Amino acid sequence: MKDIIQLLPDSVANQIAAGEVVQRPASVVKELMENSIDAGATKIQIILKNAGKSRVQVIDDGKGMSPRDARMAFERHATSKIATANDLFHIRTMGFRGEALASISSVAEVELKTKRADDELGTYLFITDSELRRQDSVQCSNGTNLLVKNLFYTVPARRKFLKSDGTELRNIVNEFLRVALTSPRVAFTLVNNGVELYNLPASGLRQRVVNAFGKVMDSRLVSIHCETGIVTIEGFTCVPQHAKKSYGEQFFFVNNRFMKHSFFHRAVQEAYSGLIAPEMLPSYFLYLTVDPSTIDVNIHPTKTEIKFQDETAIFQILLASVREALGKFNIAPAIDFDTEGKVDFPEPTENDEAPKAPRVEYNPAYNPFHYRSSLSPSDSNFEHPYPRPDREKAPAHWEKLFQGLEESRREVQTEMPGMEEKLEEYDAGGTFAQLGGRYIVAPGRSSVMFIDQKRAHERVLFERYHESLEQRREQGQKSLFPERISFAGEDYLLVKELREDLAFLGFELAEGEEMEFILHATPSGMSYARGRAVLVDLIEHYKNTEHSIKEEMKKHLALSMAKAASLSYNTPLNRGEMSELFATLSACKSPGYTVEGRTIAHVLHIDEINRWF
Ligand code: ADP
Ligand code: MG
Repeated sequence: MKDIIQLLPDSVANQIAAGEVVQRPASVVKELMENSIDAGATKIQIILKNAGKSRVQVIDDGKGMSPRDARMAFERHATSKIATANDLFHIRTMGFRGEALASISSVAEVELKTKRADDELGTYLFITDSELRRQDSVQCSNGTNLLVKNLFYTVPARRKFLKSDGTELRNIVNEFLRVALTSPRVAFTLVNNGVELYNLPASGLRQRVVNAFGKVMDSRLVSIHCETGIVTIEGFTCVPQHAKKSYGEQFFFVNNRFMKHSFFHRAVQEAYSGLIAPEMLPSYFLYLTVDPSTIDVNIHPTKTEIKFQDETAIFQILLASVREALGKFNIAPAIDFDTEGKVDFPEPTENDEAPKAPRVEYNPAYNPFHYRSSLSPSDSNFEHPYPRPDREKAPAHWEKLFQGLEESRREVQTEMPGMEEKLEEYDAGGTFAQLGGRYIVAPGRSSVMFIDQKRAHERVLFERYHESLEQRREQGQKSLFPERISFAGEDYLLVKELREDLAFLGFELAEGEEMEFILHATPSGMSYARGRAVLVDLIEHYKNTEHSIKEEMKKHLALSMAKAASLSYNTPLNRGEMSELFATLSACKSPGYTVEGRTIAHVLHIDEINRWF
């Protein structure tokens, strides 16, 4: 038998490596930006066409390459940044694997112009399929100009997996910001299809954050500075009032490299405990510096998780320093290590009144048994305070609610066979009560219905919004005093993409200057201020659940909007409101469950209650 193992040609090996390094246009942008930073550039321009699918061009004023280096740069494992294995532990550059250019040139067409300051002429290269097709001397400016065209044209399967331009562009913006935040002293511009999305001048770190995320950030940032033997932590977190509901503004860097670290994220979150609701996320931009030999750099090229030797200690330091920074900002009590464990009593002053003994108030006339006996249905004189319509007599639009409940009940019954029940009628006339700021309780003759107010409202709103998106029916109300809303990069692009659909939800947005929109109309039945807040919430929520398919998108948009606009728990409801919610819920197509499948209403039958006694 013949031997069957052979070495793969370079072009194939590179394509396989490219699968790891180059997943989407955003990966190309990231690799090229990092190369420009490593080359000492002070100004980096990124020019995209069709969110990088057609073109990614990165122009820098860095040190450039010699003709030989330019050719070498496209070989696999060709790097100027490390020479020995030991160098791996002292990496100070963003790249070091020598894989990026080789990978990119195996899955795209690459044109390079590069010149060192001392050279008279620069070098031009044209590479496709990992093969050098042309090399010339050219007149060009100092630095490197790299153009990547038709990404994945050699791998149609990969090209097919690229998402919509909007999604790819948002991925690019994410990578762009991660890199831009590591190098505030470098100026960056990002342009797509001729539209400038970012223009970040060289600045200090704080100004970089403000330029990248909007002027509003300036008043929200709290500085952090903490030096210990294990780690130095610098950067900013934000005041608790501006915590958000979704991820997007949480940045950790270690030795100036972006990383994700869920354990350290918990430390920051913990520092905010008691200051923000558990589901809220503070924005933070935190830079950790550690001895490079105490972290594991030998990780997957695109993975952003990094292993630390002193993880638990860093957790504690992070927690304490964020907490202290918030305390200095007069928001949270600072941790004071000297007095920890001691209770601090204020000294009484001359003017203080004598302390009062606590008193319990009670009503001596109250008799719980009296109340109970007078309402006993077994009493022949018993009369309900309100008339109780039965199902037949109930208004027609309640029927759906009854059916929905019957359905959910049937499901329960298949789980617990034996339970033979007949659905009871409920009284929308007035016996509704609110329980625990969350449930609407509707007692019937032989059962009680509990309705989750938020979920019910969410269902009602969802069906309403979904319908107006389906029917393309606008339902906004114009404001006399339209205001500007500015969005951070990623959100801005998202709003731009969704603008037409938002109009059918009632949000009329005109484009303003610099990442701003002018909000001309908000959904009817909502105050302008509330509408504005709902829009911001809606974008936050949608960001995490977006779907590319149009149909799905409508559903998600309607759901995001319903979630943002639905009434919250602990909102007191009067009888009229409860009765209206009940009626509108019963008119819904699926009143029994929320879109995400959570129970909206539950019926407790008297048989069950009888079992308690
Ligand atoms: P790595 O960055 O890991 O070294 P790359 O494939 O990204 O690997 O780049 C290979 C080499 O090409 C780099 O080590 C560097 O010497 C050179 N190079 C790449 N981009 C630039 C640039 N913009 N300016 C100057 N040199 C560059
Ligand atoms: Mg590189």
